[in-house]
Amino acid sequence: MLSKRFPSFLLVALFLFGCADAQKPATEQPQSIRLYVFDCGTLHYDNADAYQLKKEEVARTDMSMGCFLVKHPKGTLMWDVGAVADGTWTPTGSPVPLHIVLPDKGERNVTMVKPLKAQLLEVGYSPTDVTYLALSHYHWDHIANANDFAGSTWLVRQAEKDVMFSSPNPERTIRDNYNALAGSKTVIIDKDEYDVFGDRKVVLKLAAGHTPAHQVLLVDLEKTGPVVLAGDLYHYPEERTLNRLPVRDFDKAQTAASRAAMETFLKEKGAQLWIQHDIAAFEKLRKAPEFYD
Ligand SMILES: [Zn+2]
Repeated sequence: MLSKRFPSFLLVALFLFGCADAQKPATEQPQSIRLYVFDCGTLHYDNADAYQLKKEEVARTDMSMGCFLVKHPKGTLMWDVGAVADGTWTPTGSPVPLHIVLPDKGERNVTMVKPLKAQLLEVGYSPTDVTYLALSHYHWDHIANANDFAGSTWLVRQAEKDVMFSSPNPERTIRDNYNALAGSKTVIIDKDEYDVFGDRKVVLKLAAGHTPAHQVLLVDLEKTGPVVLAGDLYHYPEERTLNRLPVRDFDKAQTAASRAAMETFLKEKGAQLWIQHDIAAFEKLRKAPEFYD
């Protein structure tokens, strides 16, 4: 009966179409994880004294400041949000020199090129689209645009949160730049490792010492391989090669222990370490809208 109502070539076509359809995966192939790198400015220093390094021991005293977005099939994670809040400076299309006076009267010279939100927009995101916010630590040069991400779920450890909202205000930061996080949906991380999306591909790892609960971020990329974003576990690459510790760390012995544990982890995992303040290494990274996958 069917063959009378359907010409045979149509049945063949239906059969072939059915076979082709059956060979397609039941669901869309999961998209790979992407890591976007944003330039959040350059911090100028004329010495490296704060890191127990002589000027002649470091290749360059200036520091890069990176911000990062991880795009995962299950959501997005913003990692570190810069030193200067968007809207407090005027982009010109050329590098803009700024003089910053911190609450502890410390003075810093930075150069900014493009606001973070403009860079995010270029890859199709606004802060309200971002699922999670995680900061390596609370210092001023990592938190400047945090208020913009108050609608994201904040992934933080209690010891770090406690110092951020302590009284009097903590040193080496600008509390007004992250105060809105007090009202954010928050996940308090109580283990050394926190698997953000549940597949071991994006993992926050405790690396305490620089601050009470300083952390680093492992992003296990398909083509690039595993990358660890170091936060301020190191600043200059020479801290790593010459084994020097920052003078003002919250707990220097803890920093040393975190570094040793990290070096072991990097070896075992075969992971790269991206030192966020390492300006020579940072300059070589592909910047958004390009990405690592
Ligand atoms: Zn820093």
